Amino acid sequence: MSVAGEFEALYGAAPEGVWAAPGRVNLIGEYTDFNDGFVMPLALPHTAVAAVSRRADGVLRVHSADVEGGVVRLDVAALDPRTAADAGWAAYPAGVVWALREAGHPVTGADVHLASTVPTGAGLSSSAALEVVTALALNDLFGLGLSRPELAVLAQRAENAFVGVPCGVMDQMASACAIEGHALFLDTRDLSYRQVPFDLAAQGLRLLVVDTRVKHALGDGAYAERRAGCEAGARALGVRALREVPYVQLPDSLARLSEESVRRYVRHVVSDNHRVERTIALLDAGDAAAVGPVLTEGHASLRDDLRVSCPELDLVVEAANAAGALGARMTGGGFGGSAVVLVPEERAESVAAAVEKAFAGAGFAAPGIFPAVPSAGARRE
Ligand code: ADP
Ligand code: MG
Repeated sequence: MSVAGEFEALYGAAPEGVWAAPGRVNLIGEYTDFNDGFVMPLALPHTAVAAVSRRADGVLRVHSADVEGGVVRLDVAALDPRTAADAGWAAYPAGVVWALREAGHPVTGADVHLASTVPTGAGLSSSAALEVVTALALNDLFGLGLSRPELAVLAQRAENAFVGVPCGVMDQMASACAIEGHALFLDTRDLSYRQVPFDLAAQGLRLLVVDTRVKHALGDGAYAERRAGCEAGARALGVRALREVPYVQLPDSLARLSEESVRRYVRHVVSDNHRVERTIALLDAGDAAAVGPVLTEGHASLRDDLRVSCPELDLVVEAANAAGALGARMTGGGFGGSAVVLVPEERAESVAAAVEKAFAGAGFAAPGIFPAVPSAGARRE
């Protein structure tokens, strides 16, 4: 049944509309977003779809086709970050309603039914897809007139302040603002962005996402530690954020840092920011294949300097490159999640098979592999 049909079966009337918002994968620019730096995600064909109708009585009902537990019924006036955990997964859409109301927008209630094809917990931002689809639907239905970046910032606020996850704004911006056939070059300092042509098929290329299906518990504390290390580095160098350290001054800057871990983190952030700029130049010149080695360099930096990789992610990169990929790197927060692999179309299957074989040989669970076709951002269906 369609998502609209499921809505009607659930709530007894057809929805006022149906919206979709994609998950994303980050091509390059990792751990740069909290340093005011550059990132370059693209939207996936996988989407969260929401059928939604307004309510005027202060009630919010949410339901997901993908989780057990039935309809969650909440009172919009009583939404409170301190009790958000009680709502479970419903905290994501409820957090969007909360963030909109906090910003003064008159959201008086809604019925929501969701279904998503974005894999959860694979570093592909199923959470941002959920938030952005909810935000766009409410924006349209209540005539709020918010721009895509404004919706993305409110969705991020929902995740940060309501759900309680300290994520940057990249995921929501990608889901809200991406367009088909392009990667989104985003400057996280001021949220300015540019659509960079990334038509893989036209250049005989494919970008594979390899979901390692691993999520190491280490992740959260390590994220906070890297973030604190970057802030310490910025303070020591007398800049507001590491994005202000020019790449050409990196050796001098590193020489001024006494702490070894901070030196490594600064080297990663400044060099990855530069890798985003190099990637843009290559894509603008129509040479997507040349991005491959930049990806592999980025992986080495995440593995050796930031130290957020893991054996599974390293194996994807190693096995893919050995089998003829143009380049590969982990993507997202690391310690599991997914990697991206750039391959010539004709080698896509043999590279994927080589990664699967390497995983089996190492005794790892079988990875999930699919092509990342640069797809459209959030839209009304
Ligand atoms: P990621 O965003 O990388 O997929 P997160 O941990 O940030 O991982 O978000 C995953 C969470 O988002 C899930 O645990 C669940 O609470 C919520 N979620 C994602 N997709 C759905 C869905 N289709 N239905 C209900 N909840 C979902
Ligand atoms: Mg998420």
